[in-house]
Amino acid sequence: MGDEERRAADAVVDLDADASECPACLGTIPRGQGRCPGCGLRLF
Ligand SMILES: [Zn+2]
Repeated sequence: MGDEERRAADAVVDLDADASECPACLGTIPRGQGRCPGCGLRLF
């Protein structure tokens, strides 16, 4: 896995970040929230 792929994966499931990026709508999911407020995708 290349560095860029690793960064992309980290961006999606980085639970330590203040916010995560929704893989479906690319919206912002606030930390601690298990569901995207934009599209309703359940992450956790
Ligand atoms: Zn979403």
